[in-house]
Amino acid sequence: MELVRHASLEGAVRGALRGEDVPAVDLTTRGGRVLSAKAAPVRSLSGQVELAVVVFHDLTEIRRTEKMRKDFIANVSHEFKTPLTSIRGYAETLLDSAAHDTEHTREFLETIQRNSVLLQALVEDLLVLAQLESELPVEKQTIQMRELIEEQIRLRQRLLDDKSIHVELECPPVEVLADRSRLARALSNLLDNAIHYNKPGGQIRISVHSSDRGVGVDVADSGSGIPQKDLARVFERFYRVEKSRTRESGGTGLGLSIAKHAVESQGGTISVASKLGTGSTFTIVLPLNPQRFS
Ligand code: ADP
Repeated sequence: MELVRHASLEGAVRGALRGEDVPAVDLTTRGGRVLSAKAAPVRSLSGQVELAVVVFHDLTEIRRTEKMRKDFIANVSHEFKTPLTSIRGYAETLLDSAAHDTEHTREFLETIQRNSVLLQALVEDLLVLAQLESELPVEKQTIQMRELIEEQIRLRQRLLDDKSIHVELECPPVEVLADRSRLARALSNLLDNAIHYNKPGGQIRISVHSSDRGVGVDVADSGSGIPQKDLARVFERFYRVEKSRTRESGGTGLGLSIAKHAVESQGGTISVASKLGTGSTFTIVLPLNPQRFS
């Protein structure tokens, strides 16, 4: 008691020593750990209280997870609220008055459509996150890196053409043993961003390299770049560099956190380097073992 000096813990111990059934007490240590202390009397054979036993449970990790879950729900609700408010507002305005005003009708309907598309993307990304977190087994198979990357580029050819973005691929004949759908998901999210945050007529350079650290894929773009202060946070859920502008442009704010999850769940790492105004390079490294060269 002299060491701990905590009023409610002392109260609980004194209560236990009096033979009372005392409730557990929560305390936070100076180092920030959250403990739950439960004091109970220990009686002799004759029923006399001889001493008290206090059991401490360290709840730090549980409380941290609870807080993350609550924050996540609050964030998700907030992300849904903005487009939903807009859809409702414009739909009501259309119903009330602007129905005969064809110029505005079209504009309002386009806003409703844009916000519905964003909501749909949000739901899809949340489902992907849930799937990644459901601890489904990682299914590793041999993947030809060039083939996988070329497929991802092909899927976006129209987007690339629309923005006149040139993609350069440098890939030796390397194979990795990885979960194909997770790796494809991570690459596609990086590629989508490299297009989205690029300037018209810009460049994307994808290079695959192998070292003793593993097989690495760099996705480098000539886009807006990311300020140094934001670099460490872009992999967080819903983190956007320019909040309103990037949400306006249809991003869910989940792409990079999904990519990170998809890569780390198979033992890989993902990182970013960027220079404002020049571009960004995202790098995925997959562990070397087991991996073969063809
Ligand atoms: P979003 O759906 O908003 O693109 P992401 O998780 O994919 O969400 O990215 C988080 C934020 O990081 C983006 O909002 C954007 O501000 C920034 N970002 C991501 N990739 C790039 C990039 N290649 N160039 C510049 N900024 C980027």
